[in-house]
This record gives sequence, structure tokens and C-alpha cells, in this order.
Amino acid sequence: MHLRRGLRGIVGNTDGRSTGRPVMHIYCKRNAPRSKGRIETLSSITDMQRRARQIRGSGGSIVLVPTMGYLHEGHLSLIKQGKPLADHLVVSIFVNPAQFGPNEDLSTYPRDPERDARLAEETGADIIFAPDAAELYPDGFETYVIQTNLPEHLCGLSRPNHFRGVTTIVAKLFNIVKPDFAIFGEKDFQQLAVIRKMRRDLNFDIEIIGAPTVREKDGLAMSSRNTFLSEEHRKSGLALYRCLEEARRRVAEGETNARDIIADSSDVIKAEKDTAIDYIKICDPETLIDIDAIDRPAVMALAVKVGNTRLIDNRMLLPPGGKAR
Ligand code: AMP
Repeated sequence: MHLRRGLRGIVGNTDGRSTGRPVMHIYCKRNAPRSKGRIETLSSITDMQRRARQIRGSGGSIVLVPTMGYLHEGHLSLIKQGKPLADHLVVSIFVNPAQFGPNEDLSTYPRDPERDARLAEETGADIIFAPDAAELYPDGFETYVIQTNLPEHLCGLSRPNHFRGVTTIVAKLFNIVKPDFAIFGEKDFQQLAVIRKMRRDLNFDIEIIGAPTVREKDGLAMSSRNTFLSEEHRKSGLALYRCLEEARRRVAEGETNARDIIADSSDVIKAEKDTAIDYIKICDPETLIDIDAIDRPAVMALAVKVGNTRLIDNRMLLPPGGKAR
């Protein structure tokens, strides 16, 4: 391997602030072969598998950043975080039909492959893997990865097959791209928990890394779906961040009653135009089970429809003296 264990990384909070807690090894590149010039774009599964075998066969390493495209600064932060870890960074771009419900926004999900390629290249990606749905899910496809517990919480309650689609596509990407590392955003907190669990349960020899949520200046968590928000709806969407910040402050000052915080947050969201709450939860960061008394670190997570756009956000709540996850 052209790799050397080196510095230790620092974990960030869900709001992007460093907690100062070292969590992972950063690997330093040494004499590793690199692709030169324009970014490589591969769309066939066999081409990607062949390329991954070639990289690994010559002692190289791979970091994977899975995305659904329409890249924004949140995605780019994942690329930046992944870049020092391995000598080849693969960004996958695939709007995965298996994780969308029948009445969700699969057909209108924003897409701009050329802009994505430019941004990915400028940020340091080496390869874009952009497969076709028909090749990933050919006629007769019938094998899914189903996790039984974590997907039953939070988003899974209103999106019944969503996490089955997520675990299936991520397992497929792991088999196709053969990464040493894969990076996922803490913005999709439950997704990250589900994937970490899948890695453990199915023994994927891949290090899963969580990356802090990147926000707009006013606090709105970046999302490809923000593009659907009108000026007015964007203002409504900011209420999610306000609720999280208020909860953070109250818990840091000693409030422990999760129900009170949830009730007050619910009032704040309902006061905004065109909002419909899917859930507001305060739960254990690992089991995702609801917490009544916030006497240990907990995660607060919200899902709210603003107009037709479903927004999610979350952050850690740390009681006085509590340690970050
Ligand atoms: P998506 O394209 O929305 O499926 O997201 C691809 C990856 O980017 C997932 O791991 C997300 O959690 C992550 N991501 C999306 N938005 C953000 C954000 N605002 N900050 C950090 N990571 C994000």
C-alpha cells in the first residue's frame, strides 16, 4: 500500500464546530499513482469495477463519496474531507429510484451532470461514477439489503421503503467501487447510523466517516432540494435551524424535558407559512429511541414539509458537562 498512517482527525459537531475529539486516522499519500488531467467519468458498472481492481491491484486506495448529484457546498465538503484519505477519490452520482416512495420527487429531483463534473473536478475528485438506473436495477432485480430496526424510526415512519433503497444502493456501490473509505454527511443522521450498522452487520471492510453539516450563512442546512424553495418557503425552512439552536441552548443551560422542547419547537414550526411537521424527535444517537429526560447526549431531529419540499435537519444536544458523541 502507498499509504502511511499519520495524523489523527478531529470530529465535528452536527453544526460543523469541532468537538476536539479525535476519531479517525488520516492516511498520508506517498508516491501513489494519480490520474492526471480531466476527471474520469465512468458510467458502466464493469468499467468502474475494472478501474477499482486496477487501482487496488497497483497498491492504490479509494475513498467514495456517494451522492445524488446537483452538488452543493455540503457535498464538496465531503470531497474535501475525503481527499487526504486515499489516492483516488470517487464521487458517485446516482438518483436512486429505490429510495423514493411512489408520491415523492424522483422525477423532479434536480439534475445538472455537467456542473456536477466541473465542481467535483475543481474540488479534487478523480473519478465520477454515474451509472444508469437500468443497469443497477435490471428487469428481474429482486435482492435488497433490509435492516430491521434503525429504519423503523424517524424518517422510516413516513418513508417505509426509503432505507431499504439506501442500504441496497450503498451495498451495491461498495461492491462496485471497492472503497477503503466512504464518507457520508451527518445532515442525514439516520442514514449515517443505518450505514454504520450495515457495515458492522455485513462485515464490509470499509471505514465509514461522518462529515459535519454545512449550512447557508443564515443556518439553513444545504440540500439539493433547497432549490425548490421560494423566498417565502425558504424563510419558513429556517425555523428548523432556529428550533435546533434554541434546543441546544436550553439543554446546555440545564433543561432536561424533551417533551417541553418538542412542544415549543412544534409551535415555532406551525407558526411558519405552509409548514407540515412530519416529526420532531429527541432520541438516543445510536438506537434512535426517544429520550424523555435529556441527561446524556441526545440528537434532536426534525422533518418538516415546507410547501411540497421535505426538509430534514438535526443536531446534538449536550447537557451541561455532557460529552459530544
Ligand atoms: P445527497 O446527494 O443529498 O444524497 O447527499 C449525498 C451526501 O452528501 C450524503 O452523505 C449527505 O448526508 C451529504 N450531505 C448532503 N447535504 C449536506 C450538508 N449540508 N452538509 C454535509 N453533508 C451533506
